[in-house]
Amino acid sequence: MSQIDLVNINSMQEEPQDILLVDDDPSIMTLMEDFFETKGISFRTAINGLDAMRLLEENPASIIITDLLMPKMDGMELVRSVKQHWPETDIIVMTGYTKEYRYVDVIKNGASDFIQKPFNLDELEAKLQRVIRERNLRAQLLALSIKDPLTNLYNRRFFNQKLEEEANRAFRQNYDLFLIMVDIDKFKLVNDLYGHEAGDLLLEELARILKKTTRHNVDFACRLGGDEFAVIVPHAETKNAAQIAERIRQFFLQIKRDNCTLSIGIAKLSKELDTTHAIIELIKNADTAMYISKRNNGNQVVAHYDAAGSQ
Ligand code: GH3
Ligand code: MG
Repeated sequence: MSQIDLVNINSMQEEPQDILLVDDDPSIMTLMEDFFETKGISFRTAINGLDAMRLLEENPASIIITDLLMPKMDGMELVRSVKQHWPETDIIVMTGYTKEYRYVDVIKNGASDFIQKPFNLDELEAKLQRVIRERNLRAQLLALSIKDPLTNLYNRRFFNQKLEEEANRAFRQNYDLFLIMVDIDKFKLVNDLYGHEAGDLLLEELARILKKTTRHNVDFACRLGGDEFAVIVPHAETKNAAQIAERIRQFFLQIKRDNCTLSIGIAKLSKELDTTHAIIELIKNADTAMYISKRNNGNQVVAHYDAAGSQ
């Protein structure tokens, strides 16, 4: 692992955990409630598997600690259902009757760990901490695999996945989706005149502009590579996409430093093709629009639907 990756891992926030405790035995529940309250960890409680599923439907949990033998829906059935609906949830199973189910059965069904009753609270704490450590590590590895380390924007791998996902959703729910392609004009000159570090700073500055001009968790700003960026804009009208692109262009001009400008292309997902071909067309059209902007000396937004015919 490179030094950049390690720096990123160390600076990443640990996720807060939503814990659900499931047990039909009030004395065990009281013991666990006292333990979690003392540790200052918030939690919800359920009295059997069915009750747990009802709570999870309202709000999924990151970690479940459940008894195995319970009325209505037992722990093993709960493990299976949870893994089917929320595969990212970790489950620690507790039981006093090991002859009913074996350790391997519980783990094979998807539980992360197993604890035997009567258990001591230190053991529960150690197992919980291990699960939390592993969750955080998984989240950090996932972030590293989908983020560009310089700008912290999503990378090309994420872009490809997300565009497919969003295009499918746009088809299903019948709304428009736009793609904005952005490329810095004559970026090589910045590197040549002021050095690679100045070039890096400009890329970071553009990333900040893309973040502040787009809707959080709705639009997806990505660095495709070098000085080429893209924004996926789902659930929008033509005028919204054009406004976002124009704001990106203007904010970048305000940087003033290096007299840098952007070439920006916009395209809309066609509903007349199947999803796969519509995505290919979308990328091609946004790219073409961006290159028309570049051919016209850059510093402009070109929409493919306006430019068609003028190429
Ligand atoms: P055009 O106006 O046609 O867009 O050309 P350009 O000068 O912007 O350069 P071009 O798009 O052909 O090439 C992008 C350059 O970006 C080439 C490469 O040296 C530089 N580059 C790629 N990645 C990085 C990076 O992470 N940091 C810096 N500083 N430069 C990079
Ligand atoms: Mg360029």
